[in-house]
Amino acid sequence: MAFEGLAERLQATFDKMKSRGKVSESDVKEMMREVRLALLEADVNFKVVKKFVNAVKERAVGQEVMKSLTPGQQVIKVVNEELTALMGGEQSKIAQAQKPPTVVMMVGLQGAGKTTTTAKVANFLRKNNNRSPLMAAADIYRPAAIDQLHTLGKQLDMPVFSLGDKEKPVEIAKGAVAQAKEDHQDYVLIDTAGRLHVDEELMGELQDIKEAVNPDEILLVVDAMTGQDAVNVAESFNEQLGLTGVVLTKLDGDTRGGAALSVKSVTNTPIKFAGMGEKVDQLEPFHPERMASRILGMGDVLSLIEKAQTNVDEERAKELEKKMRSADLTFDDFLEQLEQVRSMGPLDELLAMIPGANKKAMKNIQIDESQIGRVEAIVRSMTAYEKQNPSVMNASRKRRIAKGSGTTIQDVNRLLKQFEDMKKMMKQMTSMQKGKKKGKGGF
Ligand code: GDP
Repeated sequence: MAFEGLAERLQATFDKMKSRGKVSESDVKEMMREVRLALLEADVNFKVVKKFVNAVKERAVGQEVMKSLTPGQQVIKVVNEELTALMGGEQSKIAQAQKPPTVVMMVGLQGAGKTTTTAKVANFLRKNNNRSPLMAAADIYRPAAIDQLHTLGKQLDMPVFSLGDKEKPVEIAKGAVAQAKEDHQDYVLIDTAGRLHVDEELMGELQDIKEAVNPDEILLVVDAMTGQDAVNVAESFNEQLGLTGVVLTKLDGDTRGGAALSVKSVTNTPIKFAGMGEKVDQLEPFHPERMASRILGMGDVLSLIEKAQTNVDEERAKELEKKMRSADLTFDDFLEQLEQVRSMGPLDELLAMIPGANKKAMKNIQIDESQIGRVEAIVRSMTAYEKQNPSVMNASRKRRIAKGSGTTIQDVNRLLKQFEDMKKMMKQMTSMQKGKKKGKGGF
C-alpha cells in the first residue's frame, strides 16, 4: 500500500506528541526534524519538504497552537491541513465542456498506465456522472495499444474509435471528435501515443493534436512508483503542453508516496484521479484531505462509505453505515458484512481507511482472507440467540461452538476478541466523528 512507510513514521512521531498539555518551541523543532526525514525518505521533492516544514513550523509555534488547550493535537491538525494544501487542497474534478462533447487528451510515457486509465476514466464517467464516453485509439506506436483499447471497450460495452495504425494520430483524434458529435457521445477520451522518454517528436505530435481538437482537459498519466521521476515527467509535459490534471497510477503498489506529495506543488497541476489496481473499476477521485488523513492514520471514512455505496446496493450501504456508527453489531451483521466487505476489495486496504487503524491497532483485527471460511463456520455454529447477543458467550457455549464448527476454543476466542476489537474501533470512530462535528480537538 502506498504511504505505508511514511504513515508509520509520522504516526510514531505524533503519538509522542498527542497527549502533551504543553508544547515548547523546541518540541516542535524536534518533531519537524523527524517529519522532514520521513518526507525525504518517502521521496518527496526536497524543495517541497523545505517549504512544507517551514509552513508547519511557523504555524505550530504561533498563537493558535501554543495557547490552545490541546497543543499536541493542534500541531497534528496543522500538519494535516498543510499536507492537504500540499496535495492541492480542494478536490479537483474532471472538466465538463459547456457544449458537448468534452474532449480529454490522455498523455503519458509508455507503461505508465495510459491505455488502462483511459478506460478507467471512461468507466468512471459513465458510472458516476451518467456520461456516455467515446474512447479513441490514437496510440499507433505501441503495437498492442489499439487492440488493448478495443478489448477494454468490449469489456465495458463502450464504443472505441480507431483508424488502425496507418493513419496519423492527429487525424484519428479529429475523426473521433467528429464521430462523437455525430453519435451524441458527451465525452471523447483520446489515448495518445506514449514513448519511453520525453522527446521532441512526441511533444510535437501531442501539440499537433492539441491544436487540432482544442481539448478541454489534458490529463497526464504518471506511474507513482517512479517517485521523483514522475514529478520530472510531469514538469516537462506541463512546460511543453500545458496540463490540466494528473492521474497517478499504481498507488496500490509499494510506493513511498513522494510523487503524490510533490506533483501539485512542483507543477501547480492538480491530481484528479488515483489508480488503485489493474482492474477498470480501480480508479478513485483524488481527495487531498482524505489522503492526508489516511497518511496521518486518521482514516478515511468517507471513501469507505463511498466504496460501500458503489459496490453494495444503497439500502445495504446505509445499513452498514448506521451499524458502524452505532457500534451495535451482532454476529448476524458480522457475517453479512464480511460478505459485503469482501466484495469491496482487499481487507487490509479497507481497514487502512478506518480511523486509528494503523498497523498496531490492526494486528488484532486482521482477518486472513483464507480463514474467512473458518470464521463463517464458527458464526454459523452459534444459536440465533447467541448471534444477536454476543455477550452471553460463556465457556460451555464456546465449547459447543468449537465442536460444531470443527475448530478449537482458541479459534472461537480469537474471533470473539476480533469482534470486540472491531466494535471498539467503531465506537472510537463514532466519537471522533462527533468530535469533528463539534469542532473539538480537530478530529
Ligand atoms: P500504457 O503504455 O501507458 O498505455 O500502459 P498500460 O495501460 O498498458 O499499463 C501498463 C501496465 O500497468 C499494465 O499491466 C496495467 O495493468 C498496469 N496498471 C495500470 N494502472 C495501474 C494501477 O493503478 N495499478 C496497478 N497495480 N497496475 C496498473
